[in-house]
Amino acid sequence: MSRQDILNRLREHDVSPTSQRIEVAEVLLSRPQHLSADQIIDRLNELGSRVSKATVYNTLKLFSKNGLVKECNVDPSRRYYDSTTHAHHHFYNVETGELTDIPEDRVTIMGLPRLPNGTERESVEILIKIKSS
Ligand SMILES: [Zn+2]
Repeated sequence: MSRQDILNRLREHDVSPTSQRIEVAEVLLSRPQHLSADQIIDRLNELGSRVSKATVYNTLKLFSKNGLVKECNVDPSRRYYDSTTHAHHHFYNVETGELTDIPEDRVTIMGLPRLPNGTERESVEILIKIKSS
């Protein structure tokens, strides 16, 4: 993804493109992937970036609030930021912590319970936990 694409994505989501936000976006949005805040910080350090940890956390919070990335809380100790924001499902390897995408049309969902009164369905996302057999 070019720098111009990154700038456009940020603007489309009402995120004003500061240099730190652009750096975080370049790491996370470069391809479909799931990264934790710590992994993003590691990559930024490898690239010689001087963005502080606190800025990375705040930037990720902002990106996710504005729909630029999706948060996946697979377990209380692991939060990933997903660069794919349209509806899809995941395999989650509980041994390695790896999260893999499943396209939405690969899953058929049947037999969902009636929704509570006064609510409507926003989305259904399946997390299939796997381990080595
Ligand atoms: Zn995903």
